[in-house]
Amino acid sequence: MRQGLLLASIVWVAGTAGCGSSQDTAQKPYPTDVASASFQQQQVGDRATMRGDVDFVTMSTEGRLVVYADDQTQADAAIRAALERVADIAKKLNRYDPASELSAINAAAGNQAVDVSDTTGRAIEAARQMWRDSRGAFNPLVGRLVALWKQASESGVEPTSESIDEARSLLDMADLECERSGTGYRVRLQRTGMQLDLGGLAKGWAAQEAIAAARRQKGLRSILVMLGGDGTVWSEPGWARPWTVAVQDPRDSANRAILTKIELTDGSVVTSGNYYRYFEIGGRRLSHIIDPRTGRPTESMLVSATVIHPDGAAADALATACMVLGRDDSLALLGRTKGAEGLLLTASGDDLGRYETDGLAGYEIRR
Ligand code: AMP
Ligand code: MG
Repeated sequence: MRQGLLLASIVWVAGTAGCGSSQDTAQKPYPTDVASASFQQQQVGDRATMRGDVDFVTMSTEGRLVVYADDQTQADAAIRAALERVADIAKKLNRYDPASELSAINAAAGNQAVDVSDTTGRAIEAARQMWRDSRGAFNPLVGRLVALWKQASESGVEPTSESIDEARSLLDMADLECERSGTGYRVRLQRTGMQLDLGGLAKGWAAQEAIAAARRQKGLRSILVMLGGDGTVWSEPGWARPWTVAVQDPRDSANRAILTKIELTDGSVVTSGNYYRYFEIGGRRLSHIIDPRTGRPTESMLVSATVIHPDGAAADALATACMVLGRDDSLALLGRTKGAEGLLLTASGDDLGRYETDGLAGYEIRR
């Protein structure tokens, strides 16, 4: 699978004030792979704050973290707490790392139950909830199918219909047991070959958990966590500087051209797109999102789906589900989901089709 590390589908855009040059840099190393960190005093409304900016890499994706706190010690503590949480989640949920908790669950499929942390258990519960809410378009058991199509893109040969059918028979969420046990969860995949893949909501969920961890520190006023195309923010009530998240123009993703901007102070805006992550077989680009109904890369006409939701995991999973469902069913899904808004894009040649929920305009900054 191609992964354009530098081509996140949403570009973070600074708040109204310019960022300026770094005044100070953190002394101690951060708990994840940090490319740069800087702090700067900024006045936001009538509040004097210290802003901290960190660029990092996690889950094969560019991350960006921005905090506003009362002073540098507090900004630094919030950054550390958020990065630690993201790093912990990335480690536990990485299905390509044989040492992760998710891999332990997958390795035991068809056999024994596995005891996992509260973190992993809650992520699985969130995925089950989104499977229900999306009526199956979001299905975290697509792991086997994802592996099949990934292998096909490496070999250049499409999977046989028998192998697709076999993997499709392993999508039944009733075969996933996940129960509280002690301080964590006990998880079992009942059938051999079943594979859990939380990639469709891991980033949104991690961003939300990172914000929760940062908020447990003193003095935090506002925070943004960008993980690839997922932007999740929180601000204290009355905060004077909303966050602006840009939605990329899929016609010019290589240059990160901006189509529109979304403004919010609290909540999540997530874009799922086919233009920076995809399978390629015989020169054909195939979506990295699997339609659980067919077992094949989705052929919905959407080039991207941007979803706003108060909850990061829900926004992330809904965006993935929209890519499966296509325009009309996605608008219906978003319409019946409380707090959700969305912008769906279709493309034919250079013509871009825009479809949106009624409430999107309330978040969009029209240029
Ligand atoms: P996203 O970029 O958030 O849309 O997530 C895409 C990732 O989610 C893929 O790379 C797969 O790991 C996983 N995935 C693919 N199809 C589905 C699906 N129908 N439901 C849930 N997860 C999926
Ligand atoms: Mg997603």
